[in-house]
Amino acid sequence: MRSQFDVIVVGGSFAGLSAAMQLARARRRVLVVDGRKPRNRFAAHSHGFFGQDGKSPAEIIGEATAQLAQYPTVDIVTAEAETARQLDGRFVITLTDRRMFDADRIVLATGVRDELPSLPGLDERWGASVLHCPYCHGYEVADKKLGVLATNALSIHQALLIPDWGPTTWFTQGIVEATREEALLLEARKVRIERTPVVEMLGNAPDTTGLRLSDGRVVAIDAVFVSPRTHMASTVAEQLGCEFDEGPTGPTIRANEFKQTSVRGVFAAGDAATAWTNATFASAAGVTAGVAAHRSLISGL
Ligand SMILES: Cc1cc2nc3c(=O)[nH]c(=O)nc-3n(C[C@H](O)[C@H](O)[C@H](O)COP(=O)(O)OP(=O)(O)OC[C@H]3O[C@@H](n4cnc5c(N)ncnc54)[C@H](O)[C@@H]3O)c2cc1C
Repeated sequence: MRSQFDVIVVGGSFAGLSAAMQLARARRRVLVVDGRKPRNRFAAHSHGFFGQDGKSPAEIIGEATAQLAQYPTVDIVTAEAETARQLDGRFVITLTDRRMFDADRIVLATGVRDELPSLPGLDERWGASVLHCPYCHGYEVADKKLGVLATNALSIHQALLIPDWGPTTWFTQGIVEATREEALLLEARKVRIERTPVVEMLGNAPDTTGLRLSDGRVVAIDAVFVSPRTHMASTVAEQLGCEFDEGPTGPTIRANEFKQTSVRGVFAAGDAATAWTNATFASAAGVTAGVAAHRSLISGL
């Protein structure tokens, strides 16, 4: 039986739309299924993405979706894929509204979900004055009083990086301690170390004016950098039997340089399949996955 589509792309953001565009331009029948929850939806502006600096995530993704929709072999559905499985050599997905679609190949571009540290006042500041990526949002808080809130051992690398944007205090939260060598590096970067745990964020959210410590002191801080634990935003990769790697912040779908996963015919791109996460990396990986899925359709491999 002929599949409805050549390729189903699950996730229609930076990675998924980039993959689908290559397939559309190869005149293949493509279905994009997207739940409209891109990871950066909490930020008012996106930065550092080629030609789109300062636009909102919704504007960039909306424009890319509209351009893709012009291609006659493309269908775009706003919905969540609930299940994905292989049946007689095809990939079948079922949406939460019970609709079913099938295709010869599948590209997973489902992104990740951030698990933020548990701290009163933090959630409502995420993407505004609580940040994770200085290349994305550091410029906008340059020369302000900056904090790095430790969530794991890697936080020391963030603490060493952030002083290029402003005077930095590293809040160790009692979960990480610098070695003697690291302490010297932090000193050279003029990082102030605060070992008393932070218990609350202060200020008129989403702005931040300070962090309250467990001993009652308040440290004046304008923006905080954290490194959230990441989780797969969807279980579809797991359902299809894909293997995972453990990255520095969470699991990633194992994929080779052509974005082929451990399951033949399943490609993965974007934040779900790499520890190097930003919109540009996701888009580039999506292009690779789209081209690789096209070649796989031709070769049958
Ligand atoms: C607060 C914040 C700000 C950021 N700012 C920047 C920035 O300024 N510049 C920059 O380059 N990067 C920024 N990033 C990083 C950027 O958001 C990601 O690297 C990028 O969004 C990854 O793209 P993606 O396509 O892999 O995944 P996402 O953009 O996360 O998209 C995944 C898509 O898949 C959909 N999806 C998931 N599961 C399913 C399913 N089962 N069925 C259907 N659809 C599904 C989701 O709804 C979503 O639309 C920021 C991240 C955060 C958290």
